[in-house]
Amino acid sequence: MARTLLLKVSGEALGGDSGAPFKRSEIERVCSEILIGRSDTRLALVVGGGNIIRGAQLKAAGGDACRGDYMGMMATLINALALQDEFLNEGQACEVVGPHFIPNVARAYDRRQVKEWLDAGTIVIFGGGTGHPFFTTDTTAALRASEIGADELLKGSNVDGIYDDDPRENADAKRFDTISFDEVLKNQYRVMDQTAFALCRENQINIRVFNMTQAGAIAAALGDNAPGTVVCV
Ligand code: UDP
Repeated sequence: MARTLLLKVSGEALGGDSGAPFKRSEIERVCSEILIGRSDTRLALVVGGGNIIRGAQLKAAGGDACRGDYMGMMATLINALALQDEFLNEGQACEVVGPHFIPNVARAYDRRQVKEWLDAGTIVIFGGGTGHPFFTTDTTAALRASEIGADELLKGSNVDGIYDDDPRENADAKRFDTISFDEVLKNQYRVMDQTAFALCRENQINIRVFNMTQAGAIAAALGDNAPGTVVCV
């Protein structure tokens, strides 16, 4: 039986220099590495929106916190379309699915339909977050990973795993290959937000934290000798 993986792509990873929301070459790299690395895995993506807007930005400017979060969720849909466009250009079937049905943008989330697409090799991108303010796309990733029965949640980050100290300040900091959910909690290592973390622990879904900004890392993360740190029960 093919493995089922859920890859969380941060919005920032798609961003360009000097605050531009998109860097075309990064979108191409992310998608091409996914296509190289996925082999026969059933693959779903959750994409963030941090390259465009996060709800906290509107709140900080005096706006309504919930409306800011809705703006953030719309931003994730824009990113989902950017990735879908590239997959379709490469001849890879891809559907954008979300809690908000928007004709020509996102199909309404339907778990059985998603299963059929995954079984058929279609890449499913969950855009639009959970549909609720006060959540993040990390939580969306944990939720959807639980719903599709993912074997592992791949958390693309800008660090290459979890360390026992800050590697930028301590040259002797040690990177873990594996670490338990309990250890991460006890030592307050920041992996994902607490809601996401709790869901993965509850549903026994391992989280692999890896550096998706390194060339080749996404392809490797989808394969047998994946890099990074695995958080497990
Ligand atoms: N968001 C939300 N509910 C969700 C998912 C996302 O309100 O279920 C909003 C929230 O404002 C968040 C923004 O969408 O800041 C973009 O998501 P996130 O910050 O997780 O993106 P990333 O950091 O991965 O780019």
